[in-house]
Amino acid sequence: MDVKRQEIADTLLREVAKCRACRFCVDMCSLYQATEGVESMAPYGRLQIIKCLLNGALDEDDPIVYSLYSCLQCGRCDGLCQAKGQNLEVSYLIRLGKYLLSHGLVKGGHDEKV
Ligand code: SF4
Ligand code: SF4
Repeated sequence: MDVKRQEIADTLLREVAKCRACRFCVDMCSLYQATEGVESMAPYGRLQIIKCLLNGALDEDDPIVYSLYSCLQCGRCDGLCQAKGQNLEVSYLIRLGKYLLSHGLVKGGHDEKV
């Protein structure tokens, strides 16, 4: 398996596991607000999608994974998670998940560019 891919996957699984599922970040996301509460469009939902992609519970062809691409990278969820003491870089984790997905690396493909 590609080393960079494995490092990113390990980082994602480690960091997402720190999420306490408090969902304080959810209401901060303008896309969650715009969709009137679609869970997959919330920061917390996107982290769960990444976890499910990496542990095999979700296929990379599932349409729900495209919510990772909809993230605006505004960082509002980061500030909220930090304010609540969990300090996850949520938007960065979503960006890493999107990277794996867009480069076909969720299932362990090869790519040298990060
Ligand atoms: S605020 Fe942080 S710990 Fe709470 S659900 Fe969101 S990402 Fe997880
Ligand atoms: S960075 Fe993405 S997930 Fe976080 S609040 Fe902004 S749009 Fe929502």
